[in-house]
Amino acid sequence: MKKSGTKNKKEPEIIARPSHTVSRADISKNALKVLYRLHKSGFQAFLVGGCVRDAILNLHPKDFDVATNAHPEEVRALFGNCRLIGRRFRLAHVRFGREVIEVATFRASVDADENHADSVQDHHGRILRDNVYGTIDEDVWRRDFTCNALYYNIADFSIWDYTDGVKDIERRRLVLIGDPAKRLREDPVRMLRAVRFAAKLNFSIDKTVSEAMHELAGLLTNVPPARLFDEFLKMFQAGFAEKTLDLLREYKLFEQLFPQTSAALDRDDSFARFVKSALTSTDRRIARGKSVTPMFLLGVFFWAPVQEAAAVLRSREKMSTAQSLALAAWEISGQHQSRISIPKRFTGPMREMLAMQPRFEVMQGRKGLNLLEHRRFRAAYDFMVLRSEVGEVDKATAKFWTDVQEQNAEQRLQSFQLGTAGAATKKRRRPRRRRARTAPPS
Ligand code: ATP
Ligand code: MG
Repeated sequence: MKKSGTKNKKEPEIIARPSHTVSRADISKNALKVLYRLHKSGFQAFLVGGCVRDAILNLHPKDFDVATNAHPEEVRALFGNCRLIGRRFRLAHVRFGREVIEVATFRASVDADENHADSVQDHHGRILRDNVYGTIDEDVWRRDFTCNALYYNIADFSIWDYTDGVKDIERRRLVLIGDPAKRLREDPVRMLRAVRFAAKLNFSIDKTVSEAMHELAGLLTNVPPARLFDEFLKMFQAGFAEKTLDLLREYKLFEQLFPQTSAALDRDDSFARFVKSALTSTDRRIARGKSVTPMFLLGVFFWAPVQEAAAVLRSREKMSTAQSLALAAWEISGQHQSRISIPKRFTGPMREMLAMQPRFEVMQGRKGLNLLEHRRFRAAYDFMVLRSEVGEVDKATAKFWTDVQEQNAEQRLQSFQLGTAGAATKKRRRPRRRRARTAPPS
C-alpha cells in the first residue's frame, strides 16, 4: 500500500538549493516580486504546483501559483494590483499587465466525518465546499498528485517535499496523495487531470491510480457541467490532444463527456481517422504558436452524430442538407448541455461551420464566390479539408477552394464562371481545363 503512509509524515524532506535544479531564472519576475514581498512582510511564501513540477522537468512553466500563510485580506493589503476572487474559496489575484499571479492561503483538508461548517461533501464523497485555512503541512495533503505537491521556499530557495514528489517526477509517474479511490471520489475531475498530465508530461499513471480510475470513471457525470467544459479546454488545447483522446478512451472517460462521439468512434473507422487527423493538426498548430478555437474541435467531435441526426430530420421533413445540419447541430449540442456545458459563443459558430459544409460543393456562380466572404469561411474551409483527407470530399474540390483563396478578384470571377457576357465562353472554358489538370488519378 503505497502512499497512505505518507499522511502521517508531517516533516517534509527539505531539498537545499544546491541539490535541485529549480533556479530563479525559471521563475517569472512577477512571481518573484510577489514571493519576496510576502516574505519581507514576515509571511511564508512558496511557489507550488505545476510551476515547480515543470521547472524540475525543464519545461517552461506557463503560470505561477503562490501559497502562503498570509490570509487573503493580508495579501490584498500588500499589493495595490490585487483582487480577491471566489466567495467561499478565496484567492488573491495579483495582476501585472497580462500576467496574473494566483496567491492562495494554505488550507487544511477536512475529513468527511469531521463535519466542519466550511467543508461539505455529497453522498459520493465529492467535496462541495472546502475553505478552512491551515498550515503548509496541512495544505499539502489536499493537493492531487505527488508531483504537484512540491513547495519552493523563497526564504532559502529550498524545495519542501512531503510526499516523495521529486522521486515520482524522476520516475515519471502520477501518484495520487492518500487513498486513490477516496481522492477521486472527492473530486472526479482528478481523473481528467491524471490523463492531462500523463499526456503532457509523458508520465505513466500509477497502477493504484489507474485501477481506481477504471472503477470510478462513472462519477464524472456527477461533476458540474461548466467545470467539465473548462477541463475539456485544458485537455484539448494544451498541445497533446491526440494522446489525451487515446487515454480518455482507454479509461472510458471520453464516453462520459461525449457519449455520442464515443459510440461513433467505436463503430466508424473513417470518423475515427477524421477525429485523429483533426487532433494532430490542432497539436501541430499549438506547437507553432497558432491559435485554436474550441468550436472547431467541438464541431469535429459532433460531426458524426450531427450528420446522423440531420439524415433523420431530412427523412421526416423536406429540407436542405444545410438546414438539416444546422438543426441537428443545435439538437446535438443541446443534448450535451447537462454533461458538459458549452457556452453559446461556441455552439453558434460551430453550427454555422457545420451547416456551411454542403456549400463547398457549389463551385460556380455568385453563391460559390460569396462563400469566400463568409465570416466562418476559414474554419469551415479547414474543416472541409479534413473531410477531404478521409475521402468525404473530393480532393479536387478541396484544391479548388485552396486555389481560389490565392486568386485576385478577376481570377476568382473566372474560377466561379462569372464573366461579362462577351467573355463568357472563354471564361467558362478555363476552370474546366484547370479541374482536369488537378483531378487525382482514379
Ligand atoms: P498546469 O498549470 O500545468 O495545468 P497545475 O498542476 O499547475 O498544472 P493547476 O490547475 O494550475 O494545475 O493547479 C495548481 C495546483 O493546485 C496543482 O498543482 C495542485 O497542487 C492543486 N490542484 C489543482 N486542482 C486540484 C484538484 N482538483 N485537486 C487537488 N489539488 C488540485
Ligand atoms: Mg498551474
